[in-house]
Amino acid sequence: MTTRATAAEDLTREAAGDERAEGAAAQALGAIDVEAIRREFPALDQTVGDRPLVYLDSAATALKPRAVIDAVTEIYARDCANIHRGVHRLSQRATERFEGARDKVRALLNAPTSQEIVLVRGTTEAINLVAQSYARPRLGPGDEILVTELEHHANIVPWQIVCEQTGAELVVARMTDAGEVTADAVEAVLSPKTRLVALPHVSNALGTVLPVRRITELAKARGAAVLVDGAQAAPHMPVDVQELGCDFYAISGHKLYGPTGAGALFGRRELLDEMPPYQGGGEMIRTVTFEKTTYAPAPTKFEAGTPDIAGVVGVGAAIDFVREVGFDALAAHERDLMAYATEALSSVPGVEIVGTARDKRAVVSFLMDVAHPHDIGTIVDMEGVAIRTGHHCAQPIMRRFGVAATARASFGMYNNRADVDALVRALWRVREFLA
Ligand code: PMP
Repeated sequence: MTTRATAAEDLTREAAGDERAEGAAAQALGAIDVEAIRREFPALDQTVGDRPLVYLDSAATALKPRAVIDAVTEIYARDCANIHRGVHRLSQRATERFEGARDKVRALLNAPTSQEIVLVRGTTEAINLVAQSYARPRLGPGDEILVTELEHHANIVPWQIVCEQTGAELVVARMTDAGEVTADAVEAVLSPKTRLVALPHVSNALGTVLPVRRITELAKARGAAVLVDGAQAAPHMPVDVQELGCDFYAISGHKLYGPTGAGALFGRRELLDEMPPYQGGGEMIRTVTFEKTTYAPAPTKFEAGTPDIAGVVGVGAAIDFVREVGFDALAAHERDLMAYATEALSSVPGVEIVGTARDKRAVVSFLMDVAHPHDIGTIVDMEGVAIRTGHHCAQPIMRRFGVAATARASFGMYNNRADVDALVRALWRVREFLA
């Protein structure tokens, strides 16, 4: 036991040395200054129990920088008004900031126009919107919707509902033992019946990056529309919907260091123009009589009711924050952290990493021979380390690997090697408790 603890402590000391050397190298390269970034996230400045918080659950939701918290506060403290219809100045200011956030989402995704950005609650709502408004009116018996084995439930269940409603069928592209879905695997199940392909850009459970551009090409060649679930990609890599060639791209603000309850759907203009509204109510109309209502053009026709104004403005602030850090620097930092974490976790006896794809982002899922994932989560929490345990809303992935759950560490821009070391030390404690 002592030897194990000592080994973990040695590892920490070594890592601290490495980190200093690396910090200097990173500064020289103009890479991100993680210490400065950490100071921008007030939630990191706390202890849980008597331990400093180590937050390794950003794939569930990222912590929020002060700039985001301030932007949200300012809406409620100063520009507190409903948007779009007000002539008074508070309403004009709130509208300007809300629409400014839409423009920021457009720039983040490199969408051609801001009219192609629908502001919604998040990825789940975005996918349901496309399912009900794009797929449902078009599909019938004999049609197929293609998803992959790497989906979050948010990119399975809305399609199953549409299949029930229309008689279409759900078809699944399988993954390899490493947790990769190749373009070949998608091609194997693509057919003239495929009307829509829905796939994740990055898997939340395993971190796998999918070859979205190639898959989109294949789908388009057969006349199928493509929806990309970008919930786990947008926080980690530059996204260019024009380069990807997809028809729809869904994101959640809260994974991107923004508030919960606000996200966006990119939809190609021709498609949004053809699609009927998803919900009816205020805001989304042009004229209303008891006989007939006509609708506003996209994106307004998809935005019934008062939105989460402060949330959307917060997402705008989050996008500014992330872009200021820069995706190149961010990606380099997270790549380093992934390599370090993969090696460090593998060095703990009995730890098995689930999902060994060549291209992974910011997620390490793992099992431990001596403990159920929930016990791992509970014990590492006693050490101040927050990880996620369970099926990660991706039960088919768990089933594929023959497990009910995994433990998952996921990273954000504020994580450093010391966080990984804290997790490794905590995993040694798990062994001490349960081996
Ligand atoms: N897709 C993926 C890949 C996700 O990780 C998540 C959130 N865990 C979702 C969809 C759903 O996102 P939200 O709950 O923000 O709608």
